Amino acid sequence: MKYIWTVSLTLLLIPSVLIAQNAKAEKFAKSITADELQEMVYTFASDEFEGRNTGKKGQKKAAGYIADFYRENDIESPIRKGDYFQEIPTEFYKDKYPPTENVLGFIPGKTNEVIVLSAHYDHLGIKDGKIFNGADDDGSGSMAILEIAEAFKKAADAGHQPKRGILILHVTAEEKGLIGSDYYSKNPVIPLAQTVTNLNIDMIGRVDKRHQDNPNYIYLIGSDRLSTELHKISERANQETVDLELDYKYNAKSDPNRFYYRSDHYNFAKHDIPVIFYFNGTHADYHKPTDTADKLNYELLEKRTRLIFHTAWKLANREKKPALD
Ligand SMILES: [Zn+2]
Repeated sequence: MKYIWTVSLTLLLIPSVLIAQNAKAEKFAKSITADELQEMVYTFASDEFEGRNTGKKGQKKAAGYIADFYRENDIESPIRKGDYFQEIPTEFYKDKYPPTENVLGFIPGKTNEVIVLSAHYDHLGIKDGKIFNGADDDGSGSMAILEIAEAFKKAADAGHQPKRGILILHVTAEEKGLIGSDYYSKNPVIPLAQTVTNLNIDMIGRVDKRHQDNPNYIYLIGSDRLSTELHKISERANQETVDLELDYKYNAKSDPNRFYYRSDHYNFAKHDIPVIFYFNGTHADYHKPTDTADKLNYELLEKRTRLIFHTAWKLANREKKPALD
């Protein structure tokens, strides 16, 4: 009863334009499915990709997988036609690793502003003969942003081109110290001044100890650090759609893990671009060869991916970009 009252009250308060927008987004969010995510993560985190170590054969294969996905779905490159790779000069990381590249896809908007959705596609490779598959870290995020790209592309093809562009950024060498995102932020293909927000995903397919009994959650980090407005948009996107528990434990400034500084979004935040970092927390298989595809919760991965899609949709289509505080 209480639930029904809440729902009908909420409906009364949401203007009809908003309902129409949400209904549109909902239609395309449905193309993001647990089945597809599962199939993709199983491939991307299979032994064939050899743990996707920076610059190594397995990572080249992963880069090829991502580029093929864009080609097959007729998604553009923001760099040049048919070339999705942003090569990083090896001097940039003092020749410590073989040549490597970021991989980028693009859904053009009606304006020159963009939302950047990022996830790192590298992992730890092979050590002592053991393959570190990195299914959660960050096979989950890598495949989530592909599914989100596909949903935006479907929407654009159906006449709902976003107001702002959606730039999908698969960064390399995160595990080596955020090198790919550092390079991108110094050599952006679309100027940072036109970059409205960065939504970064690093591990969203698992459940941590703290949430074992109620896995319907995701940690959000950074959403209120630079823009209170972004935080509100993000909360609303969740309330109106998937309704996950948004856990801000790791967003506390006093949190000793300092996750805000530890993944690729920080290379945007330090340039005053508001960010949200999506994260499932750590688990026993974190950075171990046992981070494998069979351990992910794909229904949950679907929900979390849809949340990020809905958040990006709102950010891409609202009248003004989220204001900095
Ligand atoms: Zn990671």
